[in-house]
Amino acid sequence: MKNRTCATCNRQWPYKLALKKAWQGKGAVECPYCHTSQYLTPRTRLHAGSYAIMAMAIIFIARVFVEMTTIQSIVVALGIFFIVFLVYPLTIELTDEEKQLF
Ligand SMILES: [Zn+2]
Repeated sequence: MKNRTCATCNRQWPYKLALKKAWQGKGAVECPYCHTSQYLTPRTRLHAGSYAIMAMAIIFIARVFVEMTTIQSIVVALGIFFIVFLVYPLTIELTDEEKQLF
């Protein structure tokens, strides 16, 4: 399945809509092309969790090797979260039925 692509009409969503859907979490978003309800796949939702863990791990490891003040680590943390915030919507996969994670 291609990223950001509607499961019903196979057209790719604009980035802005993907951004909205990616961070809205649960619930449906209407496809702008075929007007069906689309949901994030369970795999996509798992990815969101692992990105958050990865971001925290990077900060933790960075603090071991680089001496950082609390303020500096907060700035680095915000930077990483900002990157995840912008990149994660590019990786989302959509489905036309709501599936449970497990
Ligand atoms: Zn569609």
